[in-house]
Amino acid sequence: MPLSTAARSVRGSAIRDLLALTSRPEVISLAGGLPAADLMPRERIAAAAAAALAHPASIQYGETAGLPALRVVLAAHETARCRREITDVVVTTGSQQALDLVARAVLDPGDAVVVEDPAYVGALQVFQAAGAALHPVPLDGDGLRVDVLEDHLRDGLRPRLVHTVSTFHNPRGVTLSPQRRVRLAGLAERYGFTVVEDDPYGLLAFDGAPPLPVAAHSDRVVRLGSASKVLAPALRVGWLSGPPGLLAAVELLKQCTDLCTSSLTQAIAADLLADTAFLDAHLSGVRAATASRAHAFTTAVARHLPGVTCSAPTGGMFCWLELPGVDTTALLPRALEHGVGFVPGGAFAVEAPQPHAIRCCYASHPEPVIHEAVRRLARAAT
Ligand code: PMP
Repeated sequence: MPLSTAARSVRGSAIRDLLALTSRPEVISLAGGLPAADLMPRERIAAAAAAALAHPASIQYGETAGLPALRVVLAAHETARCRREITDVVVTTGSQQALDLVARAVLDPGDAVVVEDPAYVGALQVFQAAGAALHPVPLDGDGLRVDVLEDHLRDGLRPRLVHTVSTFHNPRGVTLSPQRRVRLAGLAERYGFTVVEDDPYGLLAFDGAPPLPVAAHSDRVVRLGSASKVLAPALRVGWLSGPPGLLAAVELLKQCTDLCTSSLTQAIAADLLADTAFLDAHLSGVRAATASRAHAFTTAVARHLPGVTCSAPTGGMFCWLELPGVDTTALLPRALEHGVGFVPGGAFAVEAPQPHAIRCCYASHPEPVIHEAVRRLARAAT
């Protein structure tokens, strides 16, 4: 059957394909960006589900923009994080849906979109499906090279959107510096583009609070948030805040897509996110455990993989490794034979090919398993 241009323009995600290979029981997977199953609040979720099910509305269709109680809690959380009044949010089925709806609300085929290089693959897929012209801008240790973006703008580039994973980047692990956040917000005002601040990891800081969101500095920012990494991905609860006109368009497009996000999982998320005592304790537990997993990972890399450079994580879930002289795409099948999985850097490449890089997720396993994974990786690499 002939397919649409949109269906033909999306590149498959190498990472989602890899999930099948790395989920074999003999493989320790550092590949997927999977939040740690052992740190998810299953009992608290079960209690919230039981409480919600006492009300018939929890298994009924709900408003497209989301459960009012959840929207109120999320707006309060966003207001606290951005230190400015966020009056409204739209709840989405994961923040991936928010990204897709924003692209559909704003982009026409051929519109320019600035993406980070390397990029979050789910964003690339969304912008490809929208028929956007992608303009990669590189990253360094302080996140997006806003100076390079400014050069492009001075040279005449006029993007509709600039997508950034501002905090604990997927895949690079880096965080956009405070100065660059202010500068990016200023460029959005001057050149009239919208920043999509994609921030599912910002609450997972284990080395001091991250800088204020880009959205703290400008109205031209759409912020995407997610319950996936802080509660559980299976809730499929995400949200966005931004200009009212955009939120109205997103709500309309969401009607076409799924009518509404699950009332039941929204009720669960509302219960947990409004319970400050629970949330504070839960998040500090997740942060402490993730910090010690990150430490175990970087220590094991230093010990078993001499000559390999590894980003120094301060939050989030990912480390970016450079293995000089090693073709990491060719290394992957060997690594799987040795019982360890990772994602080769090329999977995230937009322009720069990243042949020697790999992304590893350190968050999914306890420390002894992480040590063993790095030992296996070292054996495969030598
Ligand atoms: N943005 C980024 C940067 C991500 O890493 C992810 C998940 N891997 C998402 C958005 C989507 O997450 P979800 O749909 O589960 O909220």
